[in-house]
Amino acid sequence: MSIRVVLATRNAHKVIELRRILEEAGLDIELVGTDEYPDLPDVAETGSTFAANALLKAREVCEFTGLPAIADDSGLAVDALNGMPGIFSARWSGAHGNDRANLELVLGQLTDVAPNRRGGAFHCAAAIALPDGDARVVEGTVEGTIIDAPRGSNGFGYDPIFVPLGGNLTLAEIAPAEKDAMSHRGNAMRALVPVLKELLRP
Ligand code: IMP
Repeated sequence: MSIRVVLATRNAHKVIELRRILEEAGLDIELVGTDEYPDLPDVAETGSTFAANALLKAREVCEFTGLPAIADDSGLAVDALNGMPGIFSARWSGAHGNDRANLELVLGQLTDVAPNRRGGAFHCAAAIALPDGDARVVEGTVEGTIIDAPRGSNGFGYDPIFVPLGGNLTLAEIAPAEKDAMSHRGNAMRALVPVLKELLRP
């Protein structure tokens, strides 16, 4: 019988992506999003790292649902901005989730930064919390360069200004499956597979 696990997100794309990774790994897990739990309170992301925020969310969703819960937290760290926007990526320009304003603000902050100093990386922490109190967190990254004008219409967030190392196209110019195969979130979720195999053994 499969084990039911909650993924702390209302984003259906994230649920489908993780389901595919779990299936490829041969894990018999019934993954559900938090849509199935409409009364779930919003979790304040008060941690100062991606890992702390992912753990906070996983623990709260686990406590609320009584089920093992997975949560992720991610963002863009720009070298020339000392790792910012980092955990503030979703609300860098002030308004939470205004992708265009966030991206424009980063571009503005990098106006005079030379091409060879425009490195950065997407980071993702993925945490699992269990009803018995056990919890683990793993991380995934993808390194690249912040270009000087947006390109492409796939993806979301800072994808149109980020070119992964070794490539020429932004994350918004490649197919979603190609992004998942190399992305910080894909890498974090794949790193979670052995942890799930260990912790959720029947
Ligand atoms: P969250 O972890 O889904 O809350 O993501 C936080 C913020 O980081 C998002 O609102 C985006 O601005 C940024 N971000 C995270 N992952 C990506 C990505 O794969 N592409 C572009 N932006 C991302």
